[in-house]
Amino acid sequence: MSQVRVRFAPSPTGFFHIGSARTALFNWLYARHTGGVFILRVEDTDKERNSEEFLNVIYDSLNWLGLNWDEGPQIGGGFGPYRQSERADIYRSYLEKLKATGRVYEKDGATWFKISGEPQLIDDAIRGRVERTEEKNFVIIRSGGNPVFHFVNVVDDISMGVTHVIRGEDHLSNTSKHTELFKAFGAPLPVFAHIPLILKQDGPGKMSKRDQGALIEEYQKRGYLPEAVFNFLCLLGWNPKDDREKMTIEEIVSLFDFPGVNQSNARFDDRKMAHMNMTYLLALPPEEYLAKARALFAGSDEGAAVMDAVSEDYFSQVIAISQPKVKAIDELPSYTVYFFTEDFPWNEKAITKTFKKGEPLARLGELRQLLAMAPNFSDEAAVEAMIKAGAETNGFGFGDYQAVARLAVTGTNAGPGLTQILRVLGPEKVLSRFDRILQPPPV
Ligand code: GLU
Repeated sequence: MSQVRVRFAPSPTGFFHIGSARTALFNWLYARHTGGVFILRVEDTDKERNSEEFLNVIYDSLNWLGLNWDEGPQIGGGFGPYRQSERADIYRSYLEKLKATGRVYEKDGATWFKISGEPQLIDDAIRGRVERTEEKNFVIIRSGGNPVFHFVNVVDDISMGVTHVIRGEDHLSNTSKHTELFKAFGAPLPVFAHIPLILKQDGPGKMSKRDQGALIEEYQKRGYLPEAVFNFLCLLGWNPKDDREKMTIEEIVSLFDFPGVNQSNARFDDRKMAHMNMTYLLALPPEEYLAKARALFAGSDEGAAVMDAVSEDYFSQVIAISQPKVKAIDELPSYTVYFFTEDFPWNEKAITKTFKKGEPLARLGELRQLLAMAPNFSDEAAVEAMIKAGAETNGFGFGDYQAVARLAVTGTNAGPGLTQILRVLGPEKVLSRFDRILQPPPV
Protein backbone atom coordinates (compact mmCIF):
# COMPACT_ATOMS: atom_id res chain seq x y z
CA MET A 1 0.00 0.00 0.00
CA SER A 2 1.21 3.50 -0.77
CA GLN A 3 2.23 5.82 2.03
CA VAL A 4 -0.56 7.30 4.12
CA ARG A 5 -1.04 11.06 3.62
CA VAL A 6 -3.42 12.83 5.96
CA ARG A 7 -4.10 16.49 6.42
CA PHE A 8 -5.41 18.83 9.05
CA ALA A 9 -7.20 21.62 7.23
CA PRO A 10 -8.23 24.40 9.61
CA SER A 11 -9.94 27.61 8.55
CA PRO A 12 -8.38 30.38 10.63
CA THR A 13 -11.67 32.08 11.38
CA GLY A 14 -11.64 31.75 15.15
CA PHE A 15 -9.58 30.68 18.11
CA PHE A 16 -8.22 27.17 18.17
CA HIS A 17 -10.63 25.04 20.13
CA ILE A 18 -10.79 21.54 21.48
CA GLY A 19 -12.69 20.11 18.51
CA SER A 20 -10.06 21.31 16.02
CA ALA A 21 -7.22 20.21 18.26
CA ARG A 22 -8.69 16.74 18.51
CA THR A 23 -9.11 16.52 14.71
CA ALA A 24 -5.48 17.60 14.29
CA LEU A 25 -4.42 15.09 16.90
CA PHE A 26 -6.23 12.14 15.34
CA ASN A 27 -4.69 12.96 11.97
CA TRP A 28 -1.25 13.28 13.51
CA LEU A 29 -1.68 10.01 15.41
CA TYR A 30 -2.81 8.17 12.33
CA ALA A 31 0.16 9.49 10.37
CA ARG A 32 2.61 8.53 13.11
CA HIS A 33 0.94 5.14 13.63
CA THR A 34 1.23 4.25 9.95
CA GLY A 35 4.54 5.95 9.23
CA GLY A 36 2.66 8.34 6.98
CA VAL A 37 2.78 12.06 6.31
CA PHE A 38 0.92 14.69 8.33
CA ILE A 39 0.09 17.75 6.23
CA LEU A 40 -1.05 21.10 7.54
CA ARG A 41 -3.21 22.91 5.01
CA VAL A 42 -4.68 26.30 5.76
CA GLU A 43 -8.16 26.76 4.32
CA ASP A 44 -8.08 30.53 4.16
CA THR A 45 -10.11 31.32 1.07
CA ASP A 46 -12.68 33.30 3.01
CA LYS A 47 -10.78 36.59 3.10
CA GLU A 48 -13.42 38.35 5.17
CA ARG A 49 -13.30 35.93 8.07
CA ASN A 50 -9.67 34.83 8.18
CA SER A 51 -7.01 36.44 10.26
CA GLU A 52 -3.27 36.06 10.68
CA GLU A 53 -3.81 36.29 14.43
CA PHE A 54 -6.00 33.19 14.42
CA LEU A 55 -3.53 31.42 12.16
CA ASN A 56 -0.67 32.15 14.55
CA VAL A 57 -2.71 30.74 17.41
CA ILE A 58 -3.18 27.54 15.38
CA TYR A 59 0.58 27.21 14.72
CA ASP A 60 1.35 27.97 18.32
CA SER A 61 -1.18 25.52 19.76
CA LEU A 62 -0.11 22.72 17.40
CA ASN A 63 3.51 23.27 18.40
CA TRP A 64 2.60 23.38 22.07
CA LEU A 65 0.78 20.05 21.77
CA GLY A 66 3.72 18.57 19.89
CA LEU A 67 1.73 18.00 16.68
CA ASN A 68 4.55 18.68 14.25
CA TRP A 69 3.63 18.72 10.58
CA ASP A 70 5.71 17.11 7.85
CA GLU A 71 4.46 19.37 5.08
CA GLY A 72 2.77 22.73 5.36
CA PRO A 73 3.22 26.43 5.93
CA GLN A 74 6.57 27.53 7.36
CA ILE A 75 8.32 24.31 6.30
CA GLY A 76 7.02 23.72 2.77
CA GLY A 77 6.98 20.36 1.03
CA GLY A 78 6.55 18.87 -2.42
CA PHE A 79 2.84 19.67 -2.78
CA GLY A 80 2.71 23.34 -1.80
CA PRO A 81 1.87 26.05 -1.39
CA TYR A 82 -0.07 24.97 1.69
CA ARG A 83 -2.29 27.97 2.08
CA GLN A 84 -5.35 28.00 -0.12
CA SER A 85 -5.00 31.74 -0.58
CA GLU A 86 -1.78 30.99 -2.51
CA ARG A 87 -3.18 28.21 -4.70
CA ALA A 88 -5.29 30.21 -7.17
CA ASP A 89 -3.34 28.87 -10.19
CA ILE A 90 -3.95 25.29 -9.12
CA TYR A 91 -7.68 25.94 -8.74
CA ARG A 92 -7.78 27.55 -12.19
CA SER A 93 -6.14 24.56 -13.81
CA TYR A 94 -8.42 22.10 -12.02
CA LEU A 95 -11.41 24.16 -13.10
CA GLU A 96 -10.23 23.78 -16.69
CA LYS A 97 -10.01 20.00 -16.21
CA LEU A 98 -13.53 19.93 -14.87
CA LYS A 99 -14.80 22.10 -17.70
CA ALA A 100 -13.33 19.61 -20.15
CA THR A 101 -15.64 16.93 -18.72
CA GLY A 102 -18.69 19.01 -19.58
CA ARG A 103 -19.86 19.10 -15.96
CA VAL A 104 -19.49 22.85 -15.47
CA TYR A 105 -21.77 25.70 -16.46
CA GLU A 106 -22.23 29.38 -15.72
CA LYS A 107 -25.39 30.84 -14.27
CA ASP A 108 -26.05 34.20 -12.58
CA GLY A 109 -22.35 35.02 -12.66
CA ALA A 110 -21.40 31.92 -10.68
CA THR A 111 -19.80 28.72 -11.85
CA TRP A 112 -21.87 25.61 -11.18
CA PHE A 113 -21.10 21.94 -10.98
CA LYS A 114 -23.53 19.49 -12.54
CA ILE A 115 -24.01 16.54 -10.18
CA SER A 116 -24.44 12.99 -11.36
CA GLY A 117 -27.36 12.50 -8.99
CA GLU A 118 -26.22 8.95 -8.34
CA PRO A 119 -26.22 7.59 -4.78
CA GLN A 120 -22.88 8.39 -3.16
CA LEU A 121 -21.68 5.53 -1.09
CA ILE A 122 -18.72 5.63 1.23
CA ASP A 123 -17.32 3.04 3.55
CA ASP A 124 -16.38 5.38 6.36
CA ALA A 125 -13.57 4.00 8.50
CA ILE A 126 -15.48 5.01 11.64
CA ARG A 127 -19.15 5.29 10.69
CA GLY A 128 -19.22 2.34 8.32
CA ARG A 129 -21.39 2.43 5.23
CA VAL A 130 -22.92 5.84 4.60
CA GLU A 131 -25.09 6.59 1.61
CA ARG A 132 -26.37 9.94 0.47
CA THR A 133 -27.59 11.32 -2.80
CA GLU A 134 -27.06 14.89 -3.91
CA GLU A 135 -30.14 16.37 -5.45
CA LYS A 136 -29.02 19.76 -6.64
CA ASN A 137 -26.22 21.13 -8.72
CA PHE A 138 -24.02 23.40 -6.64
CA VAL A 139 -21.85 26.47 -7.05
CA ILE A 140 -18.09 25.91 -7.15
CA ILE A 141 -16.92 29.44 -7.97
CA ARG A 142 -18.91 32.36 -6.62
CA SER A 143 -19.72 35.39 -8.70
CA GLY A 144 -16.71 37.57 -8.04
CA GLY A 145 -14.36 34.63 -8.49
CA ASN A 146 -14.00 33.15 -5.02
CA PRO A 147 -13.91 29.37 -5.11
CA VAL A 148 -16.27 27.55 -2.76
CA PHE A 149 -15.06 25.35 0.12
CA HIS A 150 -16.21 22.05 -1.46
CA PHE A 151 -14.26 22.72 -4.62
CA VAL A 152 -10.94 23.81 -3.11
CA ASN A 153 -11.13 21.15 -0.41
CA VAL A 154 -11.45 18.37 -2.98
CA VAL A 155 -8.94 19.87 -5.42
CA ASP A 156 -6.41 20.08 -2.61
CA ASP A 157 -7.06 16.56 -1.42
CA ILE A 158 -6.51 15.32 -4.97
CA SER A 159 -3.51 17.51 -5.76
CA MET A 160 -1.85 16.83 -2.42
CA GLY A 161 -2.30 13.08 -2.75
CA VAL A 162 -4.35 12.81 0.45
CA THR A 163 -5.19 9.17 1.12
CA HIS A 164 -7.31 9.56 4.30
CA VAL A 165 -9.70 12.37 5.12
CA ILE A 166 -10.06 12.40 8.90
CA ARG A 167 -12.38 15.17 10.07
CA GLY A 168 -15.28 16.05 12.32
CA GLU A 169 -18.63 14.42 11.82
CA ASP A 170 -20.12 17.82 11.05
CA HIS A 171 -18.56 17.35 7.59
CA LEU A 172 -20.27 14.03 6.92
CA SER A 173 -23.13 15.83 5.20
CA ASN A 174 -20.65 17.48 2.79
CA THR A 175 -19.09 14.22 1.77
CA SER A 176 -21.53 13.36 -1.01
CA LYS A 177 -20.70 16.67 -2.70
CA HIS A 178 -17.05 15.83 -2.32
CA THR A 179 -17.31 12.32 -3.73
CA GLU A 180 -19.28 13.72 -6.68
CA LEU A 181 -16.33 16.00 -7.37
CA PHE A 182 -13.65 13.34 -6.88
CA LYS A 183 -15.42 11.12 -9.39
CA ALA A 184 -15.93 13.95 -11.88
CA PHE A 185 -12.17 14.56 -11.75
CA GLY A 186 -11.61 10.84 -12.30
CA ALA A 187 -9.68 10.71 -9.00
CA PRO A 188 -9.77 7.77 -6.62
CA LEU A 189 -11.75 8.37 -3.42
CA PRO A 190 -9.70 8.76 -0.25
CA VAL A 191 -10.69 6.80 2.83
CA PHE A 192 -13.08 8.92 4.86
CA ALA A 193 -13.06 8.78 8.65
CA HIS A 194 -15.56 11.04 10.40
CA ILE A 195 -14.85 11.54 14.08
CA PRO A 196 -17.73 11.86 16.56
CA LEU A 197 -18.62 15.25 17.95
CA ILE A 198 -17.58 16.61 21.31
CA LEU A 199 -20.63 17.51 23.35
CA LYS A 200 -20.61 20.32 25.86
CA GLN A 201 -20.14 19.44 29.48
CA ASP A 202 -23.70 20.06 30.59
CA GLY A 203 -26.73 19.64 28.45
CA PRO A 204 -27.20 18.73 24.83
CA GLY A 205 -25.34 20.16 21.89
CA LYS A 206 -21.91 20.43 20.49
CA MET A 207 -19.14 22.08 22.42
CA SER A 208 -18.68 25.57 21.06
CA LYS A 209 -15.79 28.02 21.09
CA ARG A 210 -17.60 30.00 23.73
CA ASP A 211 -17.87 27.15 26.23
CA GLN A 212 -15.68 27.19 29.29
CA GLY A 213 -12.54 25.15 28.67
CA ALA A 214 -12.97 25.16 24.90
CA LEU A 215 -9.82 26.99 23.85
CA ILE A 216 -6.44 25.31 23.77
CA GLU A 217 -4.60 28.53 24.59
CA GLU A 218 -6.47 28.72 27.91
CA TYR A 219 -4.74 25.53 29.01
CA GLN A 220 -1.45 26.85 27.77
CA LYS A 221 -1.92 30.07 29.75
CA ARG A 222 -2.97 28.23 32.88
CA GLY A 223 0.22 26.20 32.87
CA TYR A 224 -1.40 22.89 32.02
CA LEU A 225 1.09 20.30 30.83
CA PRO A 226 0.81 19.73 27.08
CA GLU A 227 1.28 15.97 27.58
CA ALA A 228 -1.77 15.95 29.86
CA VAL A 229 -3.91 17.90 27.40
CA PHE A 230 -2.68 15.61 24.61
CA ASN A 231 -3.62 12.51 26.62
CA PHE A 232 -7.00 13.96 27.56
CA LEU A 233 -7.82 14.90 23.96
CA CYS A 234 -6.99 11.38 22.76
CA LEU A 235 -9.64 9.99 25.06
CA LEU A 236 -12.32 12.26 23.61
CA GLY A 237 -13.71 9.70 21.22
CA TRP A 238 -10.96 7.11 21.29
CA ASN A 239 -9.85 4.53 23.79
CA PRO A 240 -7.47 1.61 23.78
CA LYS A 241 -10.30 -0.80 24.66
CA ASP A 242 -9.03 -1.39 28.14
CA ASP A 243 -9.17 0.74 31.25
CA ARG A 244 -5.95 2.59 30.65
CA GLU A 245 -6.23 6.35 30.70
CA LYS A 246 -2.78 7.75 31.38
CA MET A 247 -0.59 6.69 28.48
CA THR A 248 2.62 7.93 26.97
CA ILE A 249 2.58 9.46 23.51
CA GLU A 250 4.51 6.43 22.23
CA GLU A 251 1.91 4.05 23.62
CA ILE A 252 -0.92 6.04 22.07
CA VAL A 253 0.85 6.20 18.71
CA SER A 254 1.31 2.46 18.69
CA LEU A 255 -2.30 1.75 19.70
CA PHE A 256 -4.20 4.39 17.75
CA ASP A 257 -6.35 3.16 14.90
CA PHE A 258 -9.86 3.68 13.52
CA PRO A 259 -11.49 0.66 15.19
CA GLY A 260 -10.69 2.27 18.54
CA VAL A 261 -12.56 5.46 17.63
CA ASN A 262 -16.08 5.49 19.08
CA GLN A 263 -19.13 6.05 16.96
CA SER A 264 -20.95 7.74 19.81
CA ASN A 265 -20.27 11.35 20.69
CA ALA A 266 -17.73 12.23 23.34
CA ARG A 267 -18.58 14.48 26.24
CA PHE A 268 -16.21 17.15 27.45
CA ASP A 269 -15.49 17.04 31.17
CA ASP A 270 -13.28 19.73 32.69
CA ARG A 271 -12.86 17.80 35.95
CA LYS A 272 -11.42 14.93 33.99
CA MET A 273 -9.06 17.31 32.22
CA ALA A 274 -7.99 18.81 35.56
CA HIS A 275 -7.53 15.36 37.02
CA MET A 276 -5.44 14.25 34.07
CA ASN A 277 -3.27 17.31 34.46
CA MET A 278 -2.83 16.64 38.15
CA THR A 279 -1.82 13.05 37.41
CA TYR A 280 0.88 14.35 35.07
CA LEU A 281 1.99 17.05 37.51
CA LEU A 282 2.37 14.48 40.25
CA ALA A 283 4.51 12.31 38.06
CA LEU A 284 6.91 15.14 37.16
CA PRO A 285 10.37 14.93 38.69
CA PRO A 286 10.53 17.57 41.49
CA GLU A 287 13.22 19.61 39.69
CA GLU A 288 11.03 19.91 36.61
CA TYR A 289 8.04 20.85 38.69
CA LEU A 290 10.12 23.46 40.47
CA ALA A 291 11.34 24.88 37.16
CA LYS A 292 7.74 25.28 36.01
CA ALA A 293 6.77 26.90 39.30
CA ARG A 294 9.68 29.35 39.03
CA ALA A 295 8.68 30.22 35.46
CA LEU A 296 5.12 30.83 36.60
CA PHE A 297 6.11 33.10 39.49
CA ALA A 298 8.64 34.91 37.36
CA GLY A 299 5.86 35.65 34.88
CA SER A 300 4.13 38.20 37.11
CA ASP A 301 5.45 41.16 39.10
CA GLU A 302 3.96 39.89 42.37
CA GLY A 303 5.31 36.40 41.74
CA ALA A 304 8.78 37.72 40.95
CA ALA A 305 8.73 39.82 44.15
CA VAL A 306 7.72 36.75 46.16
CA MET A 307 10.68 34.77 44.83
CA ASP A 308 13.08 37.67 45.43
CA ALA A 309 12.03 37.96 49.03
CA VAL A 310 12.84 34.38 50.05
CA SER A 311 15.78 32.05 49.69
CA GLU A 312 15.88 29.56 46.83
CA ASP A 313 15.84 26.77 49.34
CA TYR A 314 12.73 28.06 51.08
CA PHE A 315 10.93 28.53 47.77
CA SER A 316 11.78 25.03 46.60
CA GLN A 317 10.58 23.48 49.86
CA VAL A 318 7.24 25.29 49.59
CA ILE A 319 6.83 24.03 46.03
CA ALA A 320 7.90 20.49 46.90
CA ILE A 321 5.23 20.03 49.57
CA SER A 322 2.58 21.59 47.31
CA GLN A 323 3.31 19.43 44.25
CA PRO A 324 1.12 16.49 45.32
CA LYS A 325 -1.83 18.75 46.09
CA VAL A 326 -2.25 21.24 43.27
CA LYS A 327 -4.44 20.48 40.25
CA ALA A 328 -3.02 23.07 37.88
CA ILE A 329 0.26 24.86 38.23
CA ASP A 330 -1.39 28.29 37.97
CA GLU A 331 -3.05 27.62 41.34
CA LEU A 332 0.33 27.63 43.08
CA PRO A 333 0.53 31.35 43.95
CA SER A 334 -2.80 31.36 45.75
CA TYR A 335 -2.26 27.89 47.19
CA THR A 336 1.05 28.88 48.78
CA VAL A 337 0.27 32.49 49.68
CA TYR A 338 0.70 32.06 53.48
CA PHE A 339 4.28 30.92 53.02
CA PHE A 340 5.23 34.29 51.62
CA THR A 341 3.33 36.89 53.61
CA GLU A 342 1.96 37.50 57.08
CA ASP A 343 -0.93 39.25 55.44
CA PHE A 344 -2.55 36.10 54.04
CA PRO A 345 -6.31 35.80 53.50
CA TRP A 346 -8.58 34.11 56.03
CA ASN A 347 -11.04 31.58 54.72
CA GLU A 348 -14.37 32.41 56.37
CA LYS A 349 -15.77 28.92 55.95
CA ALA A 350 -12.72 27.37 57.56
CA ILE A 351 -13.01 29.79 60.48
CA THR A 352 -16.64 28.90 61.05
CA LYS A 353 -15.95 25.20 60.74
CA THR A 354 -12.91 25.03 62.98
CA PHE A 355 -13.73 27.68 65.53
CA LYS A 356 -17.36 26.75 66.08
CA LYS A 357 -16.75 23.75 68.30
CA GLY A 358 -14.75 23.10 71.44
CA GLU A 359 -12.49 25.79 72.75
CA PRO A 360 -10.13 26.46 69.88
CA LEU A 361 -8.19 29.16 71.68
CA ALA A 362 -7.54 26.84 74.62
CA ARG A 363 -6.28 24.16 72.20
CA LEU A 364 -4.11 26.71 70.47
CA GLY A 365 -2.65 27.82 73.79
CA GLU A 366 -1.80 24.25 74.74
CA LEU A 367 -0.28 23.64 71.37
CA ARG A 368 1.81 26.79 71.58
CA GLN A 369 3.33 25.64 74.84
CA LEU A 370 4.19 22.27 73.31
CA LEU A 371 5.67 23.62 70.13
CA ALA A 372 7.69 26.24 71.96
CA MET A 373 9.59 23.37 73.56
CA ALA A 374 10.76 21.92 70.26
CA PRO A 375 14.14 23.33 69.14
CA ASN A 376 12.98 23.24 65.53
CA PHE A 377 10.38 21.51 63.39
CA SER A 378 12.71 19.77 60.99
CA ASP A 379 11.92 16.25 62.16
CA GLU A 380 8.30 15.86 61.08
CA ALA A 381 7.82 12.48 62.75
CA ALA A 382 9.09 13.85 66.05
CA VAL A 383 6.85 16.92 65.83
CA GLU A 384 3.86 14.74 65.08
CA ALA A 385 4.64 12.41 67.99
CA MET A 386 5.01 15.39 70.27
CA ILE A 387 1.69 16.90 69.26
CA LYS A 388 -0.04 13.54 69.66
CA ALA A 389 1.39 12.95 73.10
CA GLY A 390 0.51 16.46 74.21
CA ALA A 391 -3.00 16.15 72.86
CA GLU A 392 -3.55 12.90 74.71
CA THR A 393 -2.25 14.34 77.97
CA ASN A 394 -4.84 17.08 77.65
CA GLY A 395 -7.56 14.61 76.69
CA PHE A 396 -7.64 15.30 72.95
CA GLY A 397 -6.58 13.69 69.71
CA PHE A 398 -4.08 14.82 67.08
CA GLY A 399 -6.94 15.89 64.80
CA ASP A 400 -8.28 18.38 67.36
CA TYR A 401 -4.97 20.15 67.49
CA GLN A 402 -4.25 19.84 63.82
CA ALA A 403 -7.32 21.76 62.65
CA VAL A 404 -6.74 24.77 64.92
CA ALA A 405 -3.02 24.82 64.25
CA ARG A 406 -3.55 24.67 60.51
CA LEU A 407 -6.07 27.48 60.58
CA ALA A 408 -3.84 29.63 62.79
CA VAL A 409 -0.80 29.34 60.52
CA THR A 410 -2.43 29.18 57.08
CA GLY A 411 -5.82 30.88 57.37
CA THR A 412 -7.49 27.89 55.77
CA ASN A 413 -8.32 24.23 56.36
CA ALA A 414 -6.74 22.59 53.32
CA GLY A 415 -3.18 22.29 52.14
CA PRO A 416 -0.09 20.17 52.52
CA GLY A 417 0.39 18.05 55.66
CA LEU A 418 0.50 20.10 58.87
CA THR A 419 3.93 18.91 59.94
CA GLN A 420 5.26 19.73 56.47
CA ILE A 421 3.89 23.25 56.78
CA LEU A 422 5.38 23.64 60.26
CA ARG A 423 8.76 22.38 59.08
CA VAL A 424 8.90 24.78 56.14
CA LEU A 425 7.60 27.84 58.02
CA GLY A 426 9.82 27.16 61.03
CA PRO A 427 9.20 27.98 64.74
CA GLU A 428 9.54 31.73 64.52
CA LYS A 429 6.75 32.30 61.98
CA VAL A 430 4.54 29.57 63.43
CA LEU A 431 4.67 30.81 67.01
CA SER A 432 4.19 34.43 66.08
CA ARG A 433 1.10 33.47 64.08
CA PHE A 434 -0.23 31.62 67.10
CA ASP A 435 0.42 34.67 69.24
CA ARG A 436 -1.37 36.94 66.86
CA ILE A 437 -4.53 34.96 67.49
CA LEU A 438 -3.98 34.30 71.17
CA GLN A 439 -3.15 37.87 72.07
CA PRO A 440 -5.09 40.24 69.92
CA PRO A 441 -3.62 43.74 70.05
CA PRO A 442 -5.44 46.03 72.51
CA VAL A 443 -8.07 48.17 70.87
N1 GLU B 1 -11.64 23.79 6.69
C1 GLU B 1 -12.52 22.76 7.13
C2 GLU B 1 -12.83 22.98 8.60
O1 GLU B 1 -12.14 23.73 9.25
C3 GLU B 1 -11.86 21.41 6.95
C4 GLU B 1 -12.71 20.39 6.31
C5 GLU B 1 -11.99 19.07 6.08
O2 GLU B 1 -11.22 18.67 6.96
O3 GLU B 1 -12.21 18.48 5.05
O4 GLU B 1 -13.77 22.44 9.11
